[in-house]
Amino acid sequence: MIGVTENLALISDLLAFSAVDAEREPDAVKLLAVSKKQPLSKILAAVEAGQRDFGENFVKEGLEKIDRTKDLNLVWHFIGHLQNNKTRLVAENFDWVHTIDKLKTARRLNEQRPAASGPLNICLQVNIDDEPGKSGIAIDALPELAAACAELPNIKLRGLMCLPAIRSEFEQQRLPFARLRELAEMLRDGGIATDTLSMGMSGDYRAAIFEGATIVRIGTALFGDRD
Ligand SMILES: *Cc1c(COP(=O)(O)O)cnc(C)c1O
Repeated sequence: MIGVTENLALISDLLAFSAVDAEREPDAVKLLAVSKKQPLSKILAAVEAGQRDFGENFVKEGLEKIDRTKDLNLVWHFIGHLQNNKTRLVAENFDWVHTIDKLKTARRLNEQRPAASGPLNICLQVNIDDEPGKSGIAIDALPELAAACAELPNIKLRGLMCLPAIRSEFEQQRLPFARLRELAEMLRDGGIATDTLSMGMSGDYRAAIFEGATIVRIGTALFGDRD
């Protein structure tokens, strides 16, 4: 098996090449290393190779890793489904939350964020393919949620996130990402400016980069299969 160091170098190059192909700056896209269900040893190998941003889906697992790396100055992103009874732990320990789809969750994070930590960065997760039973705010309800979140002082609305239905063709993969970009443009025209599009994973990051992704969330392509 190829190691994390080699994978990280390869993926970083692929992200930069894709960005240049899309007529963007080579460093326009940040790699979020999705470390859920991966051992600490692989995280440390990635840190050694220069990676700073890590994504976790489960609160307890994430907190253990945050605790064990607290001297390393890493940036931790919560990208899983957030239950109301776990918001305090996330507000106190993470730097970003990508999966806000309810005002109630945003309000709890806003109340529970320690003042000394500065505002918590958040993205609103959009159910971009309107899939029944899937997490994410409905497109129609997005402007109201965004406007309400923009008012909360202890969270900072950074942008939008999506997890589209799986598509295999590049041109098809671009469609939901284009829609998310257009939604961010619509919010901007309505006075809510953001700087982040969190979209694209191991199988579709290139399409996401062509549609303006600023953060791609990559797990298996970097760390290998999960436990
Ligand atoms: C697991 C996960 C990823 C990473 O998926 P890979 O296919 O392993 O790259 C990205 N985003 C979210 C929200 C995830 O849950």
